[in-house]
Amino acid sequence: MNVLKDMSSMGHEQVVFCQDEATGLKAIIGVHNTVLGPALGGTRMWHYASDAEALEDVLRLSRGMTFKASIAGLNLGGGKAVIIGDSRTQKNEALLRRFGKFVNSLGGKYITAEDVGMGTKDMEYIRMETQHVTGMPEYLGGTGDPSPVTAYGVYMGMKASAKHVYGNDDLKGKTVLVQGVGHVGQYLVGYLVKEGAKVLVADIFEDNLNECVHKYPTCSVVDAGKVYDTQMDIYAPCALGGTLNDETIAKLQCKIVAGAANNQLKVEKIHGRQLIDKGIVYAPDFLINSGGLINVYGELMGYNTEAAIKKAEFIYGVTLDIFKYASDNKITNGEAAIQYAQRRIDQVAKINSTL
Ligand code: NAD
Repeated sequence: MNVLKDMSSMGHEQVVFCQDEATGLKAIIGVHNTVLGPALGGTRMWHYASDAEALEDVLRLSRGMTFKASIAGLNLGGGKAVIIGDSRTQKNEALLRRFGKFVNSLGGKYITAEDVGMGTKDMEYIRMETQHVTGMPEYLGGTGDPSPVTAYGVYMGMKASAKHVYGNDDLKGKTVLVQGVGHVGQYLVGYLVKEGAKVLVADIFEDNLNECVHKYPTCSVVDAGKVYDTQMDIYAPCALGGTLNDETIAKLQCKIVAGAANNQLKVEKIHGRQLIDKGIVYAPDFLINSGGLINVYGELMGYNTEAAIKKAEFIYGVTLDIFKYASDNKITNGEAAIQYAQRRIDQVAKINSTL
């Protein structure tokens, strides 16, 4: 683990390691870039196998947030936090409030929200210690769970991808596999079922699958270990990152990848290129999953979820623009999206440097 070298190569401003014996808290906060505004990004609670794995995750996730905020036209920088632990057994009020104190110590440079393993109730505990938190429940004046808006944006990106590949954006009759039916995955399944897609679902937790199938009885369950051996038109990764790698791309049988998970490509350049070589169109994750960020930004700017859903519609047009830009410039869709996002950051940096 060479933290400063990694920070330097990925362009991070600050990384904060948080440790507290009394509550058992072990967390890392990554602030990637604050040119556009304070670094906003959710907190993920996950049972990482090692500190190095947690660090890698927070560095990659916070960098992705910088591009996400930029491409969505928001005045926010990129940040993210990870809490090392099992959210099902180790999460409690004291641990979350202690984490809130660490967030507060950054004086607003980092603003948190939900991510994997965290919900609106957890934000309520963090809010007891800091005002630098979004994704608060509606009864406390927040915009609530951002997942419905995230799912809507992913749906927009998926439809744009279908338009690009099939010539029309109708998902009726298309086989879509949703990997991970947690917060975002289940809302996405809802949109797909409504449109008449043939939906396959996979998850590592039986209770999440049962909940999903109970809500949407037309879905079929696929074993979590068989996802990459399944024939489908569209693969929608909605669990964790890194699922597009040497091993999975070799097996993947689909035309489109469009999902909510952050950092789907294990190594951006290599795996983005491998997908092109296999004739698979990849919708950049940080673009099409930006709906949730748009929703929590509403909490800072004073617009509601309905307005956020309307704003998230931009994803359809920008996804098509990115596909065209990538093909015109012979680069991957991921590279095209990063260039698009970086252009705005560079422009705004010029304003910041003047009086
Ligand atoms: P969540 O924790 O509610 O759901 C994740 C689901 O994936 C869970 O049901 C979990 O059991 C399942 N899962 C984990 N590993 C799996 C595996 N190997 N195979 C199949 N299923 C697996 O999280 P979420 O809020 O729905 O977020 C899902 C993804 O979308 C994450 O990568 C998150 O960073 C990203 N994202 C979420 C939002 C949001 O608004 N919640 C916004 C942008 C991006």
